[in-house]
Amino acid sequence: MKAVKYAFVAATVFVLLAVSFFYSRREAESVVYTRQLMGTVVELTLMDGEAARFDEAAEAAFSEISRLEGIFSSYRDDSDVARINAAAGEGLVDIRPETIEVLREALLVGSISDGAFNPAIGALGKVWGHSGEKGEVPPADEIKKLLPYVDLAGVLLREHESQAGLKRKGMAINLGGVAKGYIVSKAASVLEKKGVTKAIIHAGGDMLVFQRNGDKPFIIGIQHPREKKLLGEARVYNGAVATSGDYERFFIKDNVRYHHILDPRTGFPSKGVQGVTLMAKDPTEADALSTAVFVLGPEKGMALIEKLKDVEGVIVDENGRVTVSSGFQGKIY
Ligand code: ADP
Ligand code: MG
Repeated sequence: MKAVKYAFVAATVFVLLAVSFFYSRREAESVVYTRQLMGTVVELTLMDGEAARFDEAAEAAFSEISRLEGIFSSYRDDSDVARINAAAGEGLVDIRPETIEVLREALLVGSISDGAFNPAIGALGKVWGHSGEKGEVPPADEIKKLLPYVDLAGVLLREHESQAGLKRKGMAINLGGVAKGYIVSKAASVLEKKGVTKAIIHAGGDMLVFQRNGDKPFIIGIQHPREKKLLGEARVYNGAVATSGDYERFFIKDNVRYHHILDPRTGFPSKGVQGVTLMAKDPTEADALSTAVFVLGPEKGMALIEKLKDVEGVIVDENGRVTVSSGFQGKIY
């Protein structure tokens, strides 16, 4: 009998309330748009700006998200990711400018996290599924055979030539831990171009808030990784909030929780952390770093957060113990 359950809970952080009534000028009515994209629910809350164009702005943002999803997806044969993987061991392929940006961030976070974040994790997709969706525990020896292909140094990026590649056949990249943050930032640019001056963009564990002349922060609720309650709140004026958790995509087998964030050293779901929420200026950085900190664990993960400028965060370890970074602006209940 297969005692495997696959669970998927989309929303991990959400906005508690956005204080608007103190403004001297009346804001537009907030309008919320939702769409199923990138394997999650994308929610756009348009709060101020040219309200008559909100529908058009949301539509344009959704099409941009959909276009970018096609570039980074591990599930589509014609994505840049799939083309790089198909050519593994056979040289470099031409990639789009967007892929250069995402790969650059992936390699940077890979390097500052000592390989805890590793885009070459794609080699393990064969046995776990690209985001753990196979729902079965692969034999340990099969995983062991794949580990040499989870090789950060074997991911080649030639920015000037707009090319990327993988050193050896059997290697593969997966940008699932960083692309969503990048896509959220691009969606925000589209909204701003369409006259939106204040908005919340939320896609699974990645969120970005912006406001052009705001003097009040957004208050963002941080979901508790185990209980149906909030862990706390964060105050953010403009910036990103990213969450990585073992409660988003997982299955339980023989009382062990198998989730979608893998430890590149073992090839198994990483241990020690239940959830990480990070605040940073840039959503791409926040997304990759939250995955990195999750893998690094509470001590090394918090040390990395403290080392980085303008990055703050909250880590809940495997026993439910909460650690908060020194500059965290918010409240843990
Ligand atoms: P989500 O995508 O659910 O918001 P994360 O941002 O934490 O959560 O990214 C998890 C995804 O990142 C996985 O589904 C997988 O595609 C990829 N991934 C898993 N482990 C790693 C890792 N150690 N380094 C880089 N990417 C990873
Ligand atoms: Mg991430």
